[in-house]
Amino acid sequence: MNNRLYGNLIFELSKSGRRGYSLPKNNFGSYEIPKEICRAEDAALPECDELTVVRHYTNLSNNNFGVDTGFYPLGSCTMKYNPKINEEMAALPQFQNLHPSQPAHTVTGAQALVTLLKKSLCALTGLAHFTFKPYAGAHGELTGLMTIDNYHRSRGDLQRKKVIVPDSAHGTNPASAAVCGLEIVEVKSLANGQVDFEDLQRIVAEQGSEIAAMMMTNPNTLGLFETRIPEIATLIHGCGGLMYYDGANLNPMLGACRPGDMGFDVMHINLHKTFSTPHGGGGPGSGPVGVREGLQAFFAEQSGKAERFPCVSPYQGNYAVMMRAYAYILSLGRENVKMVGPLATLNANYIKESLKDVYELPISGLCCHEFVFDGLKDKATGVTTMDVAKRLLDYGYHAPTIYFPLLFHESLMIEPTENESKETLDGFIAVMRQIASEAKTDPDLVKSAPHTTPIGRVDDVLAAKHPVTTYRQMTLSPLS
Ligand SMILES: *Cc1c(COP(=O)(O)O)cnc(C)c1O
Repeated sequence: MNNRLYGNLIFELSKSGRRGYSLPKNNFGSYEIPKEICRAEDAALPECDELTVVRHYTNLSNNNFGVDTGFYPLGSCTMKYNPKINEEMAALPQFQNLHPSQPAHTVTGAQALVTLLKKSLCALTGLAHFTFKPYAGAHGELTGLMTIDNYHRSRGDLQRKKVIVPDSAHGTNPASAAVCGLEIVEVKSLANGQVDFEDLQRIVAEQGSEIAAMMMTNPNTLGLFETRIPEIATLIHGCGGLMYYDGANLNPMLGACRPGDMGFDVMHINLHKTFSTPHGGGGPGSGPVGVREGLQAFFAEQSGKAERFPCVSPYQGNYAVMMRAYAYILSLGRENVKMVGPLATLNANYIKESLKDVYELPISGLCCHEFVFDGLKDKATGVTTMDVAKRLLDYGYHAPTIYFPLLFHESLMIEPTENESKETLDGFIAVMRQIASEAKTDPDLVKSAPHTTPIGRVDDVLAAKHPVTTYRQMTLSPLS
């Protein structure tokens, strides 16, 4: 029995005349609101008692799934546990109540934190300077590419308008390059998932004088460590281009190796992934950009070409995310930070090896923090990656990333992160095996999942093409 007063919308719980508050007697005299700014009719607001409102929103929040409620193996997103001490630090009133326009001498503590976090990131990445202005990974990519563009323009190298991007790259890479006004040249991946060095040599031989940069992700979006980066960096530098590192996947490298040592010139970090800020549904984020010594003069916001790129954001960037990152780095310390990468790698390989007899593993061998299955091994059942993802919800797991990367038809991308216990991983493995066996014995059960969530399968295309975001008051039916 469910005794909850369920309503999809607070409007459905409304009862005419119900009140959730009582105002004290007006002690300030009366005031007439000018007629011209008054509504013609009262706003149709829901009328509810306080407890109904509290239960409505609490029940809605219980339908949410997060890292704090269950395992969240969303590949490419690094949904890791975010220690609560970070939140306490970010909420300290001495920081939270600052105003960004306060005189500098009144915020020296906050500025010291910026300096210390920059130092930590320089030490962890091997780069010399950071700017915290960008609000997300993609925003960092754009800032980094603007920096590179500024550098080439400052040298009068105006024909360098092409960016080499591997076909396995995260979609934001080509998108950022396009927004920056640069042209994308795609380099192929080999069957082993790594950048095709020969294809790259061909591109550089043909178009070297027009190459502004090469963007790389390492480990790449298949979760594989690109082993030929030193050679690639030599090739790109040799033709006058710069190396851009998409550091959204820094998690498995943390404390193990550094982009600066590999030959990268410019990079961004997703503080909200690797450095533990709860994110999802669009924020909050921070995508600081780091550069090698000598390139800091070309940071987009400081560039002499200010008329083209005035500024990527006001003030210091997303300060609370920076506080969480610094609290996270300090609480791990120099020794434990070295465990992040190896443990994330161990966890991913453990899941991969435990499931590869029932799920198709297109690229075998060691992975880093994440890996990709190409759907179920037994294709005859007709059960797709989408079905597996939906069935996982019935078992209380968030689905992995699906249908990305685009290199395979049935991609299922799993990233467990370093914080998960062996028992959690074993539970997930058991459920994934259970779903694989259901696909054989009762495929319809999997194809019609989820069965236990408040809403079953939604029509993704309809929801994207015709989003219904308002409710018609009188009839309580969706606006058509
Ligand atoms: C998440 C991610 C991005 C984009 O970061 P946002 O903060 O979502 O803009 C870019 N590249 C890779 C590899 C990522 O995983």
